[in-house]
Amino acid sequence: MIIRARTVATMDGPPIEDGGVVISGNRIIEVGEFPGVSARHSGQETVDLGEQALLPGLINAHCHLDYTCLRGKIPSRKSFADWIRAINAEKAKLGADDYLASITDGFAEAKRFGTTTVANLTAFPELISQIRSPIRTWWFAELIDLRSPERANELVDLAIKSLQSEEKWGLAPHALFTASRDLYRRCEEVARRENVLLTTHLAESPEEMEMFREGSGPLYEFMKSIGRLMNDCGKETPLANFLTIRDYSSALRAARNDKDWLIAHLNELTESDFDLLETAKRRFHVVHSPRSHGYFAHNRFPFHKLRALGLNICLGTDSLASNENLSLFAEMRAFQRSEPRMSPDKILEMVTVNAALALHQENAFGRIRPGFRADLISIPCSGSANLFQEIVGFDGPVNWMMVNGRM
Ligand SMILES: [Zn+2]
Repeated sequence: MIIRARTVATMDGPPIEDGGVVISGNRIIEVGEFPGVSARHSGQETVDLGEQALLPGLINAHCHLDYTCLRGKIPSRKSFADWIRAINAEKAKLGADDYLASITDGFAEAKRFGTTTVANLTAFPELISQIRSPIRTWWFAELIDLRSPERANELVDLAIKSLQSEEKWGLAPHALFTASRDLYRRCEEVARRENVLLTTHLAESPEEMEMFREGSGPLYEFMKSIGRLMNDCGKETPLANFLTIRDYSSALRAARNDKDWLIAHLNELTESDFDLLETAKRRFHVVHSPRSHGYFAHNRFPFHKLRALGLNICLGTDSLASNENLSLFAEMRAFQRSEPRMSPDKILEMVTVNAALALHQENAFGRIRPGFRADLISIPCSGSANLFQEIVGFDGPVNWMMVNGRM
C-alpha cells in the first residue's frame, strides 16, 4: 500500500513535498517523492490523502488514564499536599468499573488527538487484562508502599504477575515520598532481569524539595500524618536522595544502561543538583507536562539547563486530574508559549523522536523511515512555508491514523 500526501514530515530530514510512503504489513518499507515511489511499486493500492501533512504518530511519554474521569473535578490548589488530599478523596468514590471506563475513555481520547503510543501508568495492573488498547501502550505499574514498606518486594512481584502477559511494560515506583527505597531497588532488580522500563515522579514541587531538604512544610506534615517514616527528610534534595538510592545497588548500576529511568517532572533542582547531574553522568530521559505544570503553577521548568546537560526531554499530558484533555498538540503549544524561541520542528521531536528514544524504541517509532513501524497520522496542511508551526498549531481531532499498519 502507498500513502500519498501533500507533505510528508518524516522527522528524518526535510519534509517531502508530494510524498509517498510504502507500507507492507506493519512496517514502512520506502519513503520518497510520490512519482518515483509509485513507479517502483506499480500495481500497489494507493491511498491519496490529498492536502494533508503525514507525520509519525505522536507518543505521550507520561499519562495516567486511570484518572480520565477526574477531568474538571479538582480545582487548582495552592498546596501540592492539598491536591493529593483532593485526588485521594475523589479516588475513594471510584471502583474497578469506574477505572475500566476511565481508561477506555482515555484511550479513545488520546487516539482522537493523534496519539498512537502512550506510556501509561496505572495503579491497577490487575485490570489490564480486561482492557483492549486501541493504540500502542507501555503499561507501567504505579507502585506505592507508603503504609507497608515491609511488603515492597511482594508488591512489585504481584504487579509483575499482571504485567507479564503484556508485550510492553515497565515499573513505576510512584515518587520518593510514597515509595520506599526497597521498592525502588526491587524495581531496578526486576527491570534488569526482565529488560523492562522504569519511570518515576521526581522533584515535582517546591513542597517535595522542602520535605526532603528541610524536613518541613505542607507535604512533610501531610506524609507524616498518614504514617510515612520521615527519617530520610531534612537531609538532601529529592534528586540527591534518588541518586543515593541507586548508589546502594552499585552492582546493578555497573551493569545497567544509565538511560533507563524516565523521570517525570524534574522541576525543582538546586545548583548542587545540576552539579550532581553533570558529575553523575546519568543521562536520564525527562518528561515534562507543560499544562499540568501550569495547573500547579510550579516554578519554571529548567529546560535549557537540562538539555545542555544532554538529557533527553519529551512531553506528556500527565492525568486529567491536572489537565483538561489528552492532546499532545495542545501540550506542544503550551510548551511553545513558555519557550517561544524553540523551533516548532524541535518541539515536534519531543513527542516523536525523543519520546521513542525514552521508550528505547528509537529504531522503531518516532520517524517515517524504512524499517520503522507503520504508525502514522495526517492533519490538514495549507502548504504554508512553516509546516512545523502549522503542525504545532493544529487544534482539532485527527481524522486519519494508521497504527501498526492498520488504518
Ligand atoms: Zn504523573
